[in-house]
Amino acid sequence: PKALSCKGKEVENVFNIRTPEDANRVVKLATSKNVVIVGASFLGMEVAAYLTERAHSVSVVELEEVPFKKFFGERVGRAVMKMFESNRVKFYMQTEVSELREQDGKLKEVVLKSGKVLRADVCVVGIGAVPATGFLKQSGINIDSKGFIVVNKMMQTNIPGVFAAGDAVTFPLALRNNKKVNVPHWQMAHMHGRIAALNMLAHGVEISTVPYLWTAMFGKSIRYAGHGEGFDDVVIQGDLDELKFVAFYTKSDEVVAVASMNYDPIVSKVAEVLAAGRTIRKRDHCGFFLFFRTGDMSWLTGKGS
Ligand SMILES: Cc1cc2nc3c(=O)[nH]c(=O)nc-3n(C[C@H](O)[C@H](O)[C@H](O)COP(=O)(O)OP(=O)(O)OC[C@H]3O[C@@H](n4cnc5c(N)ncnc54)[C@H](O)[C@@H]3O)c2cc1C
Repeated sequence: PKALSCKGKEVENVFNIRTPEDANRVVKLATSKNVVIVGASFLGMEVAAYLTERAHSVSVVELEEVPFKKFFGERVGRAVMKMFESNRVKFYMQTEVSELREQDGKLKEVVLKSGKVLRADVCVVGIGAVPATGFLKQSGINIDSKGFIVVNKMMQTNIPGVFAAGDAVTFPLALRNNKKVNVPHWQMAHMHGRIAALNMLAHGVEISTVPYLWTAMFGKSIRYAGHGEGFDDVVIQGDLDELKFVAFYTKSDEVVAVASMNYDPIVSKVAEVLAAGRTIRKRDHCGFFLFFRTGDMSWLTGKGS
Protein backbone atom coordinates (compact mmCIF):
# COMPACT_ATOMS: atom_id res chain seq x y z
CA PRO A 1 0.00 0.00 0.00
CA LYS A 2 1.08 3.59 -0.63
CA ALA A 3 1.99 5.49 2.54
CA LEU A 4 1.79 9.19 3.32
CA SER A 5 5.05 11.02 2.77
CA CYS A 6 4.26 14.08 4.89
CA LYS A 7 5.88 15.34 8.07
CA GLY A 8 5.05 13.11 11.06
CA LYS A 9 4.23 10.06 8.93
CA GLU A 10 5.86 7.76 11.49
CA VAL A 11 3.56 8.66 14.43
CA GLU A 12 1.57 5.88 16.10
CA ASN A 13 -2.02 5.01 15.16
CA VAL A 14 -1.72 5.66 11.43
CA PHE A 15 -2.77 2.57 9.47
CA ASN A 16 -2.84 0.98 6.06
CA ILE A 17 -5.35 -1.83 6.15
CA ARG A 18 -4.14 -5.09 4.60
CA THR A 19 -5.24 -7.80 7.01
CA PRO A 20 -8.20 -8.60 9.29
CA GLU A 21 -5.84 -7.92 12.21
CA ASP A 22 -5.21 -4.38 10.91
CA ALA A 23 -8.96 -3.83 10.59
CA ASN A 24 -9.69 -5.14 14.09
CA ARG A 25 -6.98 -2.94 15.54
CA VAL A 26 -8.46 0.15 13.85
CA VAL A 27 -11.97 -0.66 15.09
CA LYS A 28 -10.71 -1.08 18.64
CA LEU A 29 -8.71 2.15 18.63
CA ALA A 30 -11.38 4.15 16.80
CA THR A 31 -14.28 3.33 19.12
CA SER A 32 -15.59 6.64 20.55
CA LYS A 33 -12.56 8.45 19.08
CA ASN A 34 -11.86 10.87 16.22
CA VAL A 35 -10.95 9.15 12.98
CA VAL A 36 -9.46 10.72 9.87
CA ILE A 37 -9.49 8.70 6.67
CA VAL A 38 -7.22 9.71 3.83
CA GLY A 39 -8.50 8.70 0.39
CA ALA A 40 -12.14 8.49 -0.69
CA SER A 41 -12.10 5.36 -2.80
CA PHE A 42 -13.12 1.79 -1.96
CA LEU A 43 -10.98 1.22 1.10
CA GLY A 44 -11.42 4.65 2.65
CA MET A 45 -15.15 4.85 2.04
CA GLU A 46 -15.89 1.34 3.32
CA VAL A 47 -13.87 2.03 6.46
CA ALA A 48 -15.63 5.40 6.90
CA ALA A 49 -19.06 3.80 6.57
CA TYR A 50 -18.22 1.05 9.03
CA LEU A 51 -16.79 3.40 11.65
CA THR A 52 -19.62 5.95 11.70
CA GLU A 53 -21.55 3.91 14.25
CA ARG A 54 -18.52 3.40 16.46
CA ALA A 55 -16.30 6.46 16.27
CA HIS A 56 -16.96 9.86 17.81
CA SER A 57 -16.24 11.53 14.47
CA VAL A 58 -15.27 10.38 10.99
CA SER A 59 -13.59 12.76 8.54
CA VAL A 60 -12.48 11.95 5.01
CA VAL A 61 -9.70 13.82 3.21
CA GLU A 62 -9.48 13.53 -0.58
CA LEU A 63 -7.67 15.19 -3.50
CA GLU A 64 -10.66 15.09 -5.85
CA GLU A 65 -13.90 17.02 -5.37
CA VAL A 66 -16.08 13.91 -4.89
CA PRO A 67 -15.43 10.35 -3.68
CA PHE A 68 -14.87 7.57 -6.25
CA LYS A 69 -14.53 10.21 -8.97
CA LYS A 70 -12.22 8.26 -11.27
CA PHE A 71 -14.20 5.08 -10.88
CA PHE A 72 -17.87 6.10 -10.77
CA GLY A 73 -17.71 9.62 -12.19
CA GLU A 74 -18.71 12.94 -10.68
CA ARG A 75 -22.51 12.58 -10.45
CA VAL A 76 -22.52 9.14 -8.84
CA GLY A 77 -19.66 10.24 -6.58
CA ARG A 78 -21.66 13.25 -5.42
CA ALA A 79 -24.72 11.12 -4.67
CA VAL A 80 -22.61 8.75 -2.60
CA MET A 81 -21.03 11.71 -0.81
CA LYS A 82 -24.49 12.99 0.19
CA MET A 83 -25.37 9.59 1.60
CA PHE A 84 -22.22 9.69 3.74
CA GLU A 85 -22.84 13.26 4.85
CA SER A 86 -26.31 12.33 6.02
CA ASN A 87 -24.61 9.64 8.10
CA ARG A 88 -22.44 12.33 9.76
CA VAL A 89 -19.22 11.81 7.77
CA LYS A 90 -17.39 15.10 7.16
CA PHE A 91 -15.52 15.55 3.90
CA TYR A 92 -12.45 17.71 3.28
CA MET A 93 -12.11 17.65 -0.48
CA GLN A 94 -9.52 18.94 -2.95
CA THR A 95 -6.87 19.00 -0.28
CA GLU A 96 -4.32 16.64 1.22
CA VAL A 97 -2.48 15.97 4.45
CA SER A 98 0.53 18.17 5.11
CA GLU A 99 1.41 16.99 8.62
CA LEU A 100 0.53 14.41 11.25
CA ARG A 101 1.03 15.86 14.74
CA GLU A 102 1.59 13.74 17.82
CA GLN A 103 1.36 13.89 21.57
CA ASP A 104 3.45 11.34 23.50
CA GLY A 105 4.24 9.63 20.19
CA LYS A 106 0.56 9.08 19.37
CA LEU A 107 -1.43 10.80 16.65
CA LYS A 108 -3.22 13.92 17.89
CA GLU A 109 -3.96 16.12 14.87
CA VAL A 110 -4.04 15.89 11.09
CA VAL A 111 -3.07 19.14 9.38
CA LEU A 112 -4.37 19.71 5.86
CA LYS A 113 -2.76 21.72 3.05
CA SER A 114 -5.86 23.92 3.16
CA GLY A 115 -4.75 24.96 6.67
CA LYS A 116 -7.53 23.09 8.47
CA VAL A 117 -6.47 21.15 11.57
CA LEU A 118 -8.49 18.01 12.39
CA ARG A 119 -8.45 16.32 15.79
CA ALA A 120 -7.48 12.71 15.21
CA ASP A 121 -6.81 9.67 17.37
CA VAL A 122 -6.65 7.24 14.45
CA CYS A 123 -5.81 7.79 10.79
CA VAL A 124 -6.50 5.24 8.05
CA VAL A 125 -4.67 5.73 4.77
CA GLY A 126 -6.30 4.33 1.63
CA ILE A 127 -4.53 6.08 -1.22
CA GLY A 128 -3.81 3.09 -3.44
CA ALA A 129 -1.23 0.38 -3.79
CA VAL A 130 1.75 -0.40 -5.97
CA PRO A 131 2.81 -3.90 -7.05
CA ALA A 132 5.60 -5.45 -4.96
CA THR A 133 7.46 -6.70 -8.02
CA GLY A 134 10.84 -5.08 -7.42
CA PHE A 135 12.38 -8.48 -6.75
CA LEU A 136 11.73 -9.42 -10.41
CA LYS A 137 13.82 -6.57 -11.84
CA GLN A 138 16.76 -8.72 -12.89
CA SER A 139 14.65 -11.74 -13.84
CA GLY A 140 14.04 -10.92 -17.50
CA ILE A 141 10.27 -10.99 -16.91
CA ASN A 142 8.50 -8.09 -18.62
CA ILE A 143 7.42 -5.46 -16.09
CA ASP A 144 5.64 -2.31 -17.27
CA SER A 145 6.50 1.25 -16.23
CA LYS A 146 4.18 1.04 -13.19
CA GLY A 147 5.73 -2.20 -11.96
CA PHE A 148 2.98 -4.57 -13.15
CA ILE A 149 3.92 -7.95 -14.60
CA VAL A 150 2.83 -8.12 -18.24
CA VAL A 151 0.99 -11.31 -19.24
CA ASN A 152 -0.91 -12.52 -22.29
CA LYS A 153 -4.45 -13.95 -22.36
CA MET A 154 -3.13 -17.25 -21.06
CA MET A 155 -1.58 -15.46 -18.07
CA GLN A 156 1.88 -16.30 -19.42
CA THR A 157 4.75 -13.89 -18.99
CA ASN A 158 7.34 -13.44 -21.73
CA ILE A 159 9.42 -16.20 -20.10
CA PRO A 160 8.25 -19.69 -21.11
CA GLY A 161 6.83 -21.61 -18.16
CA VAL A 162 6.39 -18.50 -16.00
CA PHE A 163 2.81 -17.40 -15.30
CA ALA A 164 1.48 -14.51 -13.22
CA ALA A 165 -1.94 -13.58 -11.86
CA GLY A 166 -3.87 -11.19 -9.65
CA ASP A 167 -3.27 -7.63 -8.50
CA ALA A 168 0.33 -7.65 -9.74
CA VAL A 169 -0.41 -8.11 -13.46
CA THR A 170 -1.65 -6.26 -16.51
CA PHE A 171 -3.50 -8.50 -18.94
CA PRO A 172 -5.39 -8.03 -22.23
CA LEU A 173 -9.08 -7.36 -21.55
CA ALA A 174 -11.29 -8.51 -24.42
CA LEU A 175 -14.07 -6.00 -23.79
CA ARG A 176 -11.56 -3.12 -24.05
CA ASN A 177 -10.14 -4.37 -27.37
CA ASN A 178 -7.43 -6.28 -25.57
CA LYS A 179 -6.01 -3.21 -23.92
CA LYS A 180 -3.64 -4.23 -21.12
CA VAL A 181 -5.35 -3.44 -17.83
CA ASN A 182 -4.82 -3.98 -14.13
CA VAL A 183 -7.96 -4.96 -12.22
CA PRO A 184 -7.13 -5.32 -8.52
CA HIS A 185 -10.22 -7.20 -7.35
CA TRP A 186 -10.91 -10.60 -5.92
CA GLN A 187 -13.05 -12.00 -8.75
CA MET A 188 -10.37 -11.16 -11.26
CA ALA A 189 -7.51 -12.58 -9.16
CA HIS A 190 -9.52 -15.78 -8.80
CA MET A 191 -10.15 -16.04 -12.54
CA HIS A 192 -6.51 -15.26 -13.33
CA GLY A 193 -5.34 -18.02 -11.03
CA ARG A 194 -7.72 -20.48 -12.63
CA ILE A 195 -6.63 -19.60 -16.19
CA ALA A 196 -2.95 -19.70 -15.23
CA ALA A 197 -3.36 -23.11 -13.60
CA LEU A 198 -5.21 -24.54 -16.61
CA ASN A 199 -2.49 -23.30 -18.93
CA MET A 200 0.24 -24.75 -16.75
CA LEU A 201 -1.57 -28.02 -17.45
CA ALA A 202 -1.43 -27.20 -21.20
CA HIS A 203 -5.20 -26.67 -21.61
CA GLY A 204 -4.64 -23.67 -23.87
CA VAL A 205 -7.43 -21.45 -22.48
CA GLU A 206 -7.68 -17.69 -22.81
CA ILE A 207 -9.17 -15.33 -20.25
CA SER A 208 -12.47 -13.82 -21.34
CA THR A 209 -14.12 -12.72 -18.12
CA VAL A 210 -15.83 -9.40 -17.42
CA PRO A 211 -14.62 -7.62 -14.27
CA TYR A 212 -17.38 -7.62 -11.64
CA LEU A 213 -17.34 -6.13 -8.17
CA TRP A 214 -19.50 -4.55 -5.53
CA THR A 215 -19.04 -2.33 -2.53
CA ALA A 216 -21.39 -2.07 0.43
CA MET A 217 -21.94 1.01 2.58
CA PHE A 218 -24.74 1.75 5.07
CA GLY A 219 -26.58 -1.39 4.00
CA LYS A 220 -26.59 -0.30 0.36
CA SER A 221 -24.57 -1.90 -2.36
CA ILE A 222 -23.11 -0.53 -5.58
CA ARG A 223 -22.58 -3.20 -8.20
CA TYR A 224 -20.17 -2.69 -11.07
CA ALA A 225 -19.25 -4.63 -14.19
CA GLY A 226 -16.81 -3.89 -16.99
CA HIS A 227 -13.77 -1.66 -17.06
CA GLY A 228 -14.57 2.03 -17.26
CA GLU A 229 -11.03 3.45 -17.28
CA GLY A 230 -10.94 6.53 -19.51
CA PHE A 231 -14.74 6.73 -19.93
CA ASP A 232 -15.84 9.90 -21.73
CA ASP A 233 -19.54 9.95 -20.83
CA VAL A 234 -21.87 8.62 -18.16
CA VAL A 235 -25.52 7.97 -19.01
CA ILE A 236 -27.66 7.74 -15.89
CA GLN A 237 -31.13 6.29 -15.56
CA GLY A 238 -33.12 6.38 -12.32
CA ASP A 239 -32.82 8.75 -9.39
CA LEU A 240 -29.44 9.59 -7.90
CA ASP A 241 -31.00 11.43 -4.95
CA GLU A 242 -32.97 8.34 -4.03
CA LEU A 243 -29.89 6.16 -4.62
CA LYS A 244 -31.81 4.07 -7.11
CA PHE A 245 -29.99 4.28 -10.40
CA VAL A 246 -27.96 2.65 -13.13
CA ALA A 247 -24.99 4.42 -14.72
CA PHE A 248 -23.59 3.36 -18.09
CA TYR A 249 -19.97 4.38 -18.67
CA THR A 250 -19.23 4.87 -22.34
CA LYS A 251 -16.16 5.51 -24.42
CA SER A 252 -16.54 6.58 -28.03
CA ASP A 253 -20.16 5.41 -28.05
CA GLU A 254 -19.44 1.97 -26.58
CA VAL A 255 -20.59 0.90 -23.12
CA VAL A 256 -17.41 -0.13 -21.28
CA ALA A 257 -18.82 -0.43 -17.76
CA VAL A 258 -22.01 -0.19 -15.76
CA ALA A 259 -22.74 0.59 -12.12
CA SER A 260 -26.00 0.39 -10.22
CA MET A 261 -27.58 0.87 -6.85
CA ASN A 262 -30.99 -0.63 -6.06
CA TYR A 263 -31.41 -1.53 -9.72
CA ASP A 264 -30.84 -5.28 -9.88
CA PRO A 265 -30.30 -7.23 -12.02
CA ILE A 266 -29.10 -4.74 -14.65
CA VAL A 267 -25.38 -5.00 -13.85
CA SER A 268 -25.42 -8.80 -14.01
CA LYS A 269 -27.34 -8.67 -17.29
CA VAL A 270 -24.87 -6.24 -18.83
CA ALA A 271 -21.98 -8.40 -17.60
CA GLU A 272 -23.52 -11.43 -19.33
CA VAL A 273 -23.92 -9.52 -22.58
CA LEU A 274 -20.35 -8.23 -22.50
CA ALA A 275 -19.06 -11.69 -21.57
CA ALA A 276 -20.79 -13.06 -24.69
CA GLY A 277 -18.65 -10.66 -26.73
CA ARG A 278 -21.53 -8.37 -27.70
CA THR A 279 -21.01 -4.61 -27.87
CA ILE A 280 -23.58 -2.27 -26.36
CA ARG A 281 -23.56 1.12 -28.06
CA LYS A 282 -24.79 4.36 -26.60
CA ARG A 283 -26.37 5.82 -29.71
CA ASP A 284 -27.40 3.11 -32.09
CA HIS A 285 -28.72 0.38 -29.87
CA CYS A 286 -32.47 0.82 -29.78
CA GLY A 287 -32.67 -1.44 -26.75
CA PHE A 288 -30.65 1.05 -24.79
CA PHE A 289 -33.31 3.68 -25.41
CA LEU A 290 -36.11 1.19 -24.89
CA PHE A 291 -34.62 0.41 -21.52
CA PHE A 292 -34.49 4.09 -20.66
CA ARG A 293 -38.14 4.57 -21.58
CA THR A 294 -39.63 1.40 -20.17
CA GLY A 295 -37.03 -0.26 -17.97
CA ASP A 296 -37.35 -3.30 -20.29
CA MET A 297 -34.13 -5.34 -20.14
CA SER A 298 -35.15 -8.16 -22.46
CA TRP A 299 -33.03 -6.67 -25.28
CA LEU A 300 -29.96 -7.38 -23.18
CA THR A 301 -30.60 -11.09 -22.97
CA GLY A 302 -32.05 -11.36 -26.44
CA LYS A 303 -34.96 -13.39 -25.09
CA GLY A 304 -37.60 -10.69 -25.30
CA SER A 305 -39.46 -9.16 -28.20
C1 LIG B 1 -8.48 -3.95 2.76
C2 LIG B 1 -8.80 -4.57 1.44
C3 LIG B 1 -10.13 -4.77 1.10
C4 LIG B 1 -10.46 -5.34 -0.13
N1 LIG B 1 -11.78 -5.53 -0.44
C5 LIG B 1 -12.10 -6.10 -1.61
C6 LIG B 1 -13.46 -6.34 -1.95
O1 LIG B 1 -14.37 -6.02 -1.18
N2 LIG B 1 -13.76 -6.92 -3.14
C7 LIG B 1 -12.78 -7.28 -4.02
O2 LIG B 1 -13.08 -7.81 -5.09
N3 LIG B 1 -11.47 -7.06 -3.73
C8 LIG B 1 -11.12 -6.48 -2.56
N4 LIG B 1 -9.80 -6.26 -2.26
C9 LIG B 1 -8.80 -6.65 -3.26
C10 LIG B 1 -8.49 -8.13 -3.18
O3 LIG B 1 -8.15 -8.46 -1.86
C11 LIG B 1 -7.34 -8.43 -4.14
O4 LIG B 1 -7.74 -8.11 -5.45
C12 LIG B 1 -6.91 -9.88 -4.10
O5 LIG B 1 -6.56 -10.26 -2.80
C13 LIG B 1 -5.73 -10.06 -5.05
O6 LIG B 1 -5.21 -11.34 -4.92
P1 LIG B 1 -3.67 -11.60 -5.19
O7 LIG B 1 -3.47 -13.06 -4.96
O8 LIG B 1 -3.28 -11.01 -6.49
O9 LIG B 1 -2.87 -10.74 -4.11
P2 LIG B 1 -2.90 -10.82 -2.52
O10 LIG B 1 -4.20 -11.30 -1.99
O11 LIG B 1 -2.38 -9.49 -2.08
O12 LIG B 1 -1.84 -11.94 -2.20
C14 LIG B 1 -0.47 -11.78 -2.51
C15 LIG B 1 0.32 -12.67 -1.56
O13 LIG B 1 1.66 -12.72 -2.00
C16 LIG B 1 2.54 -12.53 -0.91
N5 LIG B 1 3.78 -11.98 -1.46
C17 LIG B 1 4.04 -10.71 -1.83
N6 LIG B 1 5.30 -10.62 -2.32
C18 LIG B 1 5.84 -11.85 -2.26
C19 LIG B 1 7.11 -12.40 -2.62
N7 LIG B 1 8.08 -11.64 -3.14
N8 LIG B 1 7.31 -13.71 -2.44
C20 LIG B 1 6.33 -14.48 -1.92
N9 LIG B 1 5.12 -14.03 -1.56
C21 LIG B 1 4.87 -12.73 -1.73
C22 LIG B 1 1.78 -11.58 -0.01
O14 LIG B 1 2.25 -11.67 1.31
C23 LIG B 1 0.34 -12.11 -0.14
O15 LIG B 1 0.07 -13.15 0.75
C24 LIG B 1 -9.44 -5.70 -1.04
C25 LIG B 1 -8.10 -5.50 -0.70
C26 LIG B 1 -7.79 -4.92 0.53
C27 LIG B 1 -6.35 -4.70 0.88
